[in-house]
Amino acid sequence: MGLSYTIDCRACGAHTEYRTTICRSRSLEATTIADHIDTECAIRCPVCRARLNKSRADFLSQVSIVIEA
Ligand SMILES: [Zn+2]
Repeated sequence: MGLSYTIDCRACGAHTEYRTTICRSRSLEATTIADHIDTECAIRCPVCRARLNKSRADFLSQVSIVIEA
């Protein structure tokens, strides 16, 4: 199971995508993932290194998450 992130960076305007995997036994809804966004560990724009997750709202406004089976 993987997650595909599409990032629209507010700081530099870059549009980037990356994929990651999560270790979950069940499918998760995107809204559930949003509830578990980690704002302690910085998630950064791969282009300009601007921090995307100063808050959950900040993250959600710049990043969209697609769940892949
Ligand atoms: Zn950026």
